[in-house]
Amino acid sequence: MADRTVAVVGGGCAGVLATRELLRGTGDRVVLIEPDEPGGGLAYGSARPWHLLNSRAGAMSADPDDPGHFARWAGCSSDDFRPRAEYGQYLRSVFASVADEHGDRLTVRRSQAAGLSPDGVLLADGRSVRADDVVVATGNPAPAQPAAVPDHPDYVPDPWAKGALEAIPSDVPVLLIGAGLTAIDVAMTLTAERERDAPITAVSRRGQLPLTHTPVAAPPIGLALDDCTTLRDIVRAVRAEAARAGDWRAVVDGLRPYLDQMWTAFTPDEQESFLRHLARPWECHRHRMAPAVGARVSSMREEGRFEVRAGGVHSMTAPAAGGLLVELEAGVQWFGAVVNCAGPGRLPGAAGSFVGSLLSSGEARVGPHGLGLDIDASGRLVGADGRVRPDRWLIGPLRRGAKWETTAVPEIRAQARTLARSVIPVE
Ligand SMILES: Cc1cc2nc3c(=O)[nH]c(=O)nc-3n(C[C@H](O)[C@H](O)[C@H](O)COP(=O)(O)OP(=O)(O)OC[C@H]3O[C@@H](n4cnc5c(N)ncnc54)[C@H](O)[C@@H]3O)c2cc1C
Repeated sequence: MADRTVAVVGGGCAGVLATRELLRGTGDRVVLIEPDEPGGGLAYGSARPWHLLNSRAGAMSADPDDPGHFARWAGCSSDDFRPRAEYGQYLRSVFASVADEHGDRLTVRRSQAAGLSPDGVLLADGRSVRADDVVVATGNPAPAQPAAVPDHPDYVPDPWAKGALEAIPSDVPVLLIGAGLTAIDVAMTLTAERERDAPITAVSRRGQLPLTHTPVAAPPIGLALDDCTTLRDIVRAVRAEAARAGDWRAVVDGLRPYLDQMWTAFTPDEQESFLRHLARPWECHRHRMAPAVGARVSSMREEGRFEVRAGGVHSMTAPAAGGLLVELEAGVQWFGAVVNCAGPGRLPGAAGSFVGSLLSSGEARVGPHGLGLDIDASGRLVGADGRVRPDRWLIGPLRRGAKWETTAVPEIRAQARTLARSVIPVE
């Protein structure tokens, strides 16, 4: 049917890849709703020159049929770690070329979606977009907020907000809440352009930083998990193979294609146990720093400019003289600024206004463990009544919970391809 319309809400990485697949793989018209220029989004839209991809160029192609596409476009080796801002340019060039080819079927609405209607999408400016199918591609939930944070100018609740880090003076100690890739990004920004006289401290429950990639990738090692029936068995098998292989990275990378299968085979209790005990160590091993970033972090630690501590933030108070007094495991310490680097929060609390409206209208419901929205096996939204919405789709990080690996480009481009093949009218 040539006169069908699919509305894609969100023009970040997932929205651009979905639009590309829909235009190339179907005869449908596509309306892409995105307030900013398509091809930006959280990861690639406002990245600074020192923010590198945490994946090799060879993993970042937009085209599932042509894994070398990004590396050729960037003129680099498939082992390289390129700047994230360059990857944003790549996504924009991918979008421009599909718009050139199929412009007669593509409309971009530079607007914010406010909610869904039976006919399509309601826009924040009061207008609407009629659509047969809608693809929700609005990215991560809002950042998780630690308990008891003050509403204070020296507390930065969202490090990705425009200008949030630039206002932090270089002569005050800074506390980062969280020690993952977001904290590394923030530490790089705070030390990249200005000489910093005061240290940065990152605090997280385990005090574990992401690990580092090797300069050249080892081929992934597949692991036979047939005899494993519990999460504990799997952990034991992975440790044994990593010890045998000598390079745990190859074992971790070899597990990646099976993770969703494993996650969905876990019982809800096993999933909860994974989230509590293993998710963080897994992320540290799986989402690694580029070698150059890892080297920079090591030298900052050796020079005493960056410190990582285990433990929680028990309280924060605001003295009259400015800054924040923070109670950590080791006692109360003063910081001139505190930056929340805790990563995405859980739904429904961390839903933005659009996802919040899907939840309150019953068009969607919260998925497993509050990590994302509930979907069926093909990625269609499940409403508050438990029924699958046949023409409402979800792609990207908000699939987390129903899936495990759903945030990186290889998974998102595969979801986009499957989506374009599934968006067909129900007779
Ligand atoms: C810092 C960082 C680094 C990463 N590095 C890598 C990496 O090296 N390799 C890798 O494979 N993956 C990486 N990822 C993961 C992955 O690529 C991203 O999560 C991916 O960009 C997700 O794409 P998305 O389109 O779902 O979300 P986003 O790219 O965040 O895009 C969401 C878009 O939706 C729009 N939007 C939101 N609400 C509305 C609304 N109501 N109406 C209209 N539009 C709306 C926003 O404006 C935005 O453009 C990284 C992620 C982050 C956060």
